[in-house]
Amino acid sequence: NDACFPVPLNPDSYDWASHFPELYAAAAAEGRPPPLVDFADVGCGFGGLTVRLAEAYPDKLVLGMEIRDKVTEYVRERVVALRKQHPGKYRNCSAARTNAMKFITNYFKKGQLSKLFFLFADPHFKTSKHRRRIIQRTLLAEYAYLLKPGGLLYTITDVEDLGNWQRDRLEAHPMFERVSDEELEGDAAAQLLLEGTEEGQKVARNSGKTWRHVYRRILGPSEQ
Ligand code: SAM
Repeated sequence: NDACFPVPLNPDSYDWASHFPELYAAAAAEGRPPPLVDFADVGCGFGGLTVRLAEAYPDKLVLGMEIRDKVTEYVRERVVALRKQHPGKYRNCSAARTNAMKFITNYFKKGQLSKLFFLFADPHFKTSKHRRRIIQRTLLAEYAYLLKPGGLLYTITDVEDLGNWQRDRLEAHPMFERVSDEELEGDAAAQLLLEGTEEGQKVARNSGKTWRHVYRRILGPSEQ
């Protein structure tokens, strides 16, 4: 499966201009370095959050990452259509087909991201499959590497067991601290977690319960 799509060797060798053509052309015309992705929506599915973030944060670049080929293609087409309908908008979002668990560090530099989203991740219910969960100790080290100090990692799920798992792994990790609900009331991105995605809307329609855990990437001992 992984052999079917190209993976960049490092962030600089990726064709970012194909994702953000207008912004890259504008930067080149003005002799500025091109802008870098700020937010990653991991397992973006049909891209609801990716496009909502692009609306809410027009100055930030948002990349959805999705392993399913057709679904990624759908998001790319959705963005192209939105750009046509709303000239000047949605230039700042796109989606890449990739296995984020394996390759996320090939896409972004150290401390590049200010927000990282994991919305309604696959639960992998069986204990023997828990190592496939996208929030786990070894991967949290990679997410901490990619987030800038103060950057936020957002999780939400409608599966209680997965929510507890995500909270416990984040709580145990030395590079993350919990963000309080009061603080999140003033955070536009946190408000989009339920209403922004296809999966979240489904859960909300069924008045289902959700478990949201948001953590801040703190400064490590060697960074102070
Ligand atoms: N975040 C979306 C939402 O809230 O509507 C989609 C949630 S869906 C339950 C989980 C998504 O993660 C699926 O689209 C799946 O293909 C994708 N996914 C699973 N593992 C992945 C991986 N390793 N890398 C990228 N995407 C992945």
